Formats: sequence, C-alpha cells, structure tokens
Amino acid sequence: MKKIEVGVLGATGMVGQNFIRFLEGHPWFELAWVGASDRSAGKPYAEATAWRLDGPMPETVAKLVVQECRPETKAPKLVFSAMDASVATEIERAFAEAGHYVVSNSRNHRMEPDVPLLVPEINPDHLGLVAHQHRRGWKGAIVTNPNCSTVALTMGLVPLKPFGIEKVVATTMQAVSGAGYPGVASFDIVGNVIPFISGEEGKMETETLKILGEFAGDHVEFLPAKVSAHCNRVPVLDGHTVAVSVALRDKPHLKDLIHAYETFTALPQKLKLPSAPPKPVLYLHEENRPQPRRDAGRGNGMTVTVGRLRTCPVLDYKFVCLAHNTIRGAAGAAVLNAELMYAQGLLK
Ligand code: NAP
Repeated sequence: MKKIEVGVLGATGMVGQNFIRFLEGHPWFELAWVGASDRSAGKPYAEATAWRLDGPMPETVAKLVVQECRPETKAPKLVFSAMDASVATEIERAFAEAGHYVVSNSRNHRMEPDVPLLVPEINPDHLGLVAHQHRRGWKGAIVTNPNCSTVALTMGLVPLKPFGIEKVVATTMQAVSGAGYPGVASFDIVGNVIPFISGEEGKMETETLKILGEFAGDHVEFLPAKVSAHCNRVPVLDGHTVAVSVALRDKPHLKDLIHAYETFTALPQKLKLPSAPPKPVLYLHEENRPQPRRDAGRGNGMTVTVGRLRTCPVLDYKFVCLAHNTIRGAAGAAVLNAELMYAQGLLK
C-alpha cells in the first residue's frame, strides 16, 4: 500500500524523539514533516535536535527541515503531537480547525467532553466522539492518549471490568524517563524516592474513569467508581509500575480473575494493527514479577504486564501492573490510536 504521510508537532523534544523512533520503518505511516518552536524552525532536524535516545537518529529525519507549528506550513493531514503543554492547547486546536487529525500525547484536551481519550484495547467506540467535534466548526479533530501511569492502570484493570470495578487504590513507582530531559536532578533521585509528581494523581483519578466509561453518543458516561492514586518517582530508567488494590461488585473467585487476564484480547489484536502486541495484557505467574528492567520492553514496549494477583484484606484483590512509559504510555499509544483511526476509515 502507499504509505500515509505524517508529521510530528514538537518533534525535537523527548516525546517527539520517541515518536520519530517508533515511526521508523512503520508499514503504514511515513514521517514527512517535523514541527517545533521558532527557535528550531528553518534548521535541519539533525541541527535543531539534541538526540537523547539510544541508537542513532534515523537518517530519514535528519535532513527534514523543521517547520513552525502552523497549519499553513503544508503539514500532512495526520499529525502526532508531542507539544510542550504550555502551547499545545492553541496549536492543536488550530490544526484541528484547519482539517488536520491531531493524535496528541499532551494533556491539554484529554478531558474535553467531545475528545476521545483513547486506549484502543479498552474503548475503541469512544472514537465516535470525533463526529461531534465537527460541531465546533473543525474540519479535522483531536484524539488523545492518556497519561503514562493511567495507561498501565487502566490496562491492568480492564480485564476485571466485567466483575464491576467499584474502588481502586493505586500506588505508582514511576521511571525518570517520564519526566523528560533533563528531568529530575541525579542528586535528587539516585538512591532516593520522591513522593510527589505534579498533577499526576489527579490525572490518574479522572482519566481512568473516562477511559473505562461508556460511550453515550455525544459524551462518555464515566465509570461510577472511586480511584485514589499515590504517585512516586523512583530511580528506574523506563517502565512505570503500579501496585493496585481493587473492590469488585461481583466478589469473583481469584481463578476467575486469572482466567480473565489470560483470555483478554481486544479489537487491535483482531484487526492486527501493526503496533498492537499479540498479548496486550500478559499475566506473569512468577512471584516476583513484573519488573521494569525485565518486562517493560515486552511486545516491543506495547504489552502491559500484570502479576501478583492475590486477595486484599482491605479491598477485594490486589495486583501489580507495569507499562513502558515512553512507548505504551506515550509514542506507541498515539501511533496505535492513529492505526485504529485509519483502520476505521477516519483518515480517508
Ligand atoms: P520537551 O522535551 O520540552 O519538548 C517540547 C517540544 O515542544 C519541543 O519540540 C519544542 O520545540 C516544542 N515547543 C516548545 N514551545 C513551542 C512553541 N511555542 N511552538 C511550537 N513548539 C514548541 O517536552 P517533552 O518531555 O517531550 O513533553 C512533551 C509533551 O508530552 C508535554 O505536554 C508533556 O507534558 C507530555 N508528556 C511527556 C512525557 C515524557 O516522558 N517526557 C510523558 C508523557 C507526556 P523546541 O525544541 O524548538 O523548543
């Protein structure tokens, strides 16, 4: 098939670089346009960017000239956004108004009622909200992916949803790569834990309810549950681990929950989307897994691992889940969203 040209807004930043690496060799999408601030615009990407990921900068992007993030700059119809949050609201809106499909990793539009907060394995039907964005007079649309810890939590919870999720207490151990570059000073994080990540707990508590909610035509009915999050930065490079306790309405047996994890599959797997891992949620039976160094990279960084399911003396059950924060929690999540949009005919 002829590849679809795509662009990246905020391509020079940490998340932008993850997009560029994740898109390298993609079977459907071809990176043709990169945008950043006016500090970078006009320069070749290789000159504008301090490349901070492992391995060399892909040659295909090195010579692309960085553009200003304005729709008039001949950006492709499909653009991924890794914009700085301080400017993403207006710039993403301008692109959507002008007819672009903006698949965004930024937090700015996630909780707007007509914007899908999409995890393709959980709520592909929420893409139905896009039609309502045209009421704003937009010729295009904005589709978002969740915060990186919320992806781990919601993927760990979704196989349990049929049993009636009522209460969730989630404690994160989040990798330093989630704080961007230069991130947390080494003097603060080496041999230490920081029990505060600005804004993160609120995002986990609200985004989870929207993602696991029901599509109701022109809005999402949030999951009627309570979520309490504790967010901690730990000296791990990649991979956010979440320790979760959950109360379930139906009081199922433990073996039913293990069965639910082991048999869980979803639309991206059925459609064989290029970035969909064969097993979106992998239950590990070893007593000391999942672990970020050993498990975050499974399924090309797109598999969420779960383990240690056991009874909880306070709520009903507890378990640990883990996701690669810059792949399943950022660039990979957005690319999978775009693959679903393409497969469902939204990008025609
Ligand atoms: P970053 O490294 O600071 O990169 C920000 C990008 O935005 C750069 O490409 C920058 O271009 C561009 N930019 C800044 N001001 C601009 C303007 N006025 N007009 C156009 N472009 C502008 O940030 P990041 O860590 O990649 O994070 C990007 C977004 O993803 C943020 O919204 C962040 O909250 C979110 N996020 C980050 C992570 C993570 O792991 N870092 C995880 C989840 C979500 P220049 O290089 O030209 O300045």
